[in-house]
Amino acid sequence: MSDRRMAVLKASIKMCGRCSGMNIPGFTQAAPGYGSERSPVAVVGQSLCGPCMKTQIPFSGGSGLLLDRVFERVGVAKKDLFITNVVHCHPPDNRPSLPEEIANCSPYLRRELDIVKPVLVIGLGQDARAVLTTMYPQARQLDWPFRSPPDDASPMNLLCPPHPAWIRRQNETVRDLYVRSLASAIAWAFARDPHADERPAP
Ligand code: SF4
Repeated sequence: MSDRRMAVLKASIKMCGRCSGMNIPGFTQAAPGYGSERSPVAVVGQSLCGPCMKTQIPFSGGSGLLLDRVFERVGVAKKDLFITNVVHCHPPDNRPSLPEEIANCSPYLRRELDIVKPVLVIGLGQDARAVLTTMYPQARQLDWPFRSPPDDASPMNLLCPPHPAWIRRQNETVRDLYVRSLASAIAWAFARDPHADERPAP
């Protein structure tokens, strides 16, 4: 059932024309969320990066390279997470998203997360933090650097670490701490994966 809902949603995002000047192929093109719709972890960025238009995969290259280090440390493939953005199109010249773009596009994010139902949502960047904390006021907000919460009582947990684009400009000590802390958070969520029994063995 969820496969069909996600397929319909992806098609809607790919054809979307809600925002003026957005979703122009190769210039401001949209990409829906990528990865497993049964993942216990969703990663939410601010908007689609330029190279991501071609790959149709959020966080391709650039700050995504640091996330790749995180996934490698956990031992999960990128496709085993669900990775998306608040704004699914690429803002021209990497400008910040406009308020109306965030308002137009965040309902798509809500629908994606309604299907995935992740245990942990990782919001990267101030737009992601603002939208996610408003969208999920009942979610438990986890501390950064990550520490395991005292119980599994909350069905949704929200973690908003610094954006990897900023971390990449710091020294290796800071980058390593970031990788280890984010990897711990993802491993914690996978250990609580309600769909674990349905996953194929690695
Ligand atoms: S930013 Fe979102 S709402 Fe706006 S055109 Fe792109 S996909 Fe549609």
